[in-house]
Amino acid sequence: MYPLIRSYCSICLFVLIGAGLVGCASRDVPAPVAISAEPVFTGLMVEQGPSSLGAEPRREKITLLVLHHTAGSLASSLRTLQGRDPNHKVGVHFVVTDEVKPRVIRMVPDDMSAYHAGRGSWGSVTNLNQQSIGIEIINLDGNIHPYSEAQADILFALCADIIRRHDIKPWNVVAHSDIAIGRKIDPGTKFPWAKLASLGVGAWPWKMDVDNAVHRKVDLSPEYARRLLVAYGYGVEPGEAGLKQCMVAFQRHFRPANINGIIDDESVIILEALLRRYHPATHQALQVTP
Ligand SMILES: [Zn+2]
Repeated sequence: MYPLIRSYCSICLFVLIGAGLVGCASRDVPAPVAISAEPVFTGLMVEQGPSSLGAEPRREKITLLVLHHTAGSLASSLRTLQGRDPNHKVGVHFVVTDEVKPRVIRMVPDDMSAYHAGRGSWGSVTNLNQQSIGIEIINLDGNIHPYSEAQADILFALCADIIRRHDIKPWNVVAHSDIAIGRKIDPGTKFPWAKLASLGVGAWPWKMDVDNAVHRKVDLSPEYARRLLVAYGYGVEPGEAGLKQCMVAFQRHFRPANINGIIDDESVIILEALLRRYHPATHQALQVTP
């Protein structure tokens, strides 16, 4: 079995302080606040799994968190993600299992870049592997099979810890399908984006903002939809087909009930609400630009 990595427990610290076992500052001069790079207590336990050859030294700052489904069983995924196949050199930082009590298995440390994202873009980022942390979740197809509550719970703890340690912005917590448009469909329409966002992980529009816009006249022109998608971060390919493919990717994340790629009122309203919430200046500029 793998050795366990445990984060420090703040409860223990309180007990130690209460028992007078932790050094005290003088009553007059406040002690400097100790800043630790170690994870704080989150209830998260991470197992060290087999390492991966699908990794290289990290040369760029981490800005993105990318979520995937494995499309394979735990055993086959752990085998593949060791990156031993020279024709298919892949790797990922964390794997979340599909067991009744899911586990988090670490394969690549954060200070290494793992080969999990491949070609694509998000905003100005094109070197996706260098700027991201990747999480693979065991699920044969997240567009068909729901993620368990227990998987969502442990994902929340894992994502929250990664986001806090690397200061990753909500809109930079993305699906593989968001950044590799037309190439990837994971982690799928069943992924609990709304639930995670309600807990503070990832982006989601304010419900009231979307509800209030329902009776407003919406600009459904392809030009406007393209501008909104690009402003939010999507890499939209040229032409009608490129725009439709990108709408599908957007809907797979933010309007999973209907991923037909059509520019409709609801999709545009959600896009506008996302921009208003997370990029208000950009949203404002788009409203005045013809
Ligand atoms: Zn993927």
